[in-house]
Amino acid sequence: MSQPLPVGATIGILGDGQLGRMLAVAAANLGLDVSILGPHEDSPASRVAKMVVQADYTDIVAVTDWARSCDAVTYEFENVPVETAEALMATGVVVRPGAKPLEIAQDRIVEKTYLRNCGIPTADFALIESAEEIPAPLSQFGGQGILKTCRDGYDGKGQVRIEIGDDYHEAHRALGNVPCVLEAIVPFEREISLLIARATNGETAIWDCPENGHVNGILRRSKVPAQISKTTMDAAKDAAIKLIEALDYIGVLALEFFVLADGTLMANEFAPRVHNSGHWTPEACATGQFEQHIRAVAGWPLGPVTRFHDIEMENLLGEEALDIQAYLNAGDTVTLYGKREAKIGRKMGHVVKRINK
Ligand code: AMP
Repeated sequence: MSQPLPVGATIGILGDGQLGRMLAVAAANLGLDVSILGPHEDSPASRVAKMVVQADYTDIVAVTDWARSCDAVTYEFENVPVETAEALMATGVVVRPGAKPLEIAQDRIVEKTYLRNCGIPTADFALIESAEEIPAPLSQFGGQGILKTCRDGYDGKGQVRIEIGDDYHEAHRALGNVPCVLEAIVPFEREISLLIARATNGETAIWDCPENGHVNGILRRSKVPAQISKTTMDAAKDAAIKLIEALDYIGVLALEFFVLADGTLMANEFAPRVHNSGHWTPEACATGQFEQHIRAVAGWPLGPVTRFHDIEMENLLGEEALDIQAYLNAGDTVTLYGKREAKIGRKMGHVVKRINK
């Protein structure tokens, strides 16, 4: 499909969490309908969409059936099986940004290799398939590293720090004895991400970089602008453009970086979707990440990403989302995801504070 979708068309979203919910709201504001497919009952996205199908992503019959009622399909979850996206594409469904970004982002080794092949530096890494393979690269990396499962890790889960002399078998067992990547520890000064969008005509738009603070591997807050030089910002932009063009990507993508003391960048990973570190963009910029992603998926032109405020965005985790009065009184913008249960550490919502209102 090279024609832009008409107003009133239906965008299908694979994924039923908060990202799907915020994409659905943005689509509605553009006069588009949304149909959600995801495995959960009463999910955050299901409650703001026109249509909902509850099914597993691996149920290719259900997914292809569902996609027949959609004019274009996207995803908000990077672990949608590659086979599912490929099956949709094989039946002529427009899937943006396609199966390839999933295939690359789902495996840390494939991802880091791809980033390096694009000329984007990463931490040194080695594939670990058994505990016996840990000591050699660990000494090469200065005796310390982070062991991460190649697949299915998120929010700091599926990784352990490891040092020479540790019980390597125990470390690998703790991660389920699955294929892992051992990474050198990066002595970073700060962490930033770069959010970029690309349209069907190849046009790109890049938001100012947020600086991200993680606690226990979970994003706690993002501050904008990041305290980085123009040279570092330009290097991040160059890297993101190389990546998004190599992938021939359509939609919003987030590339996460470590920034060293001298401003040098090392990419950590990318997310082929809208991203938590961009949740401030709707409040601070002419076009937010959710609207931008929907515009790209619909084959529409991108909007300007001019930023009007400095921002602090904070995630509301677990029960923090139950008491929002102080934020409301302060004039901050609160977004809640409608999750029914405030489990410890669970992302329940976020607050955007405008620093210069
Ligand atoms: P990840 O799951 O790869 O996003 O890692 C979660 C967090 O762990 C990152 O945001 C960093 O704060 C930290 N981390 C991950 N990899 C490294 C590394 N190679 N060196 C230092 N810190 C890391």
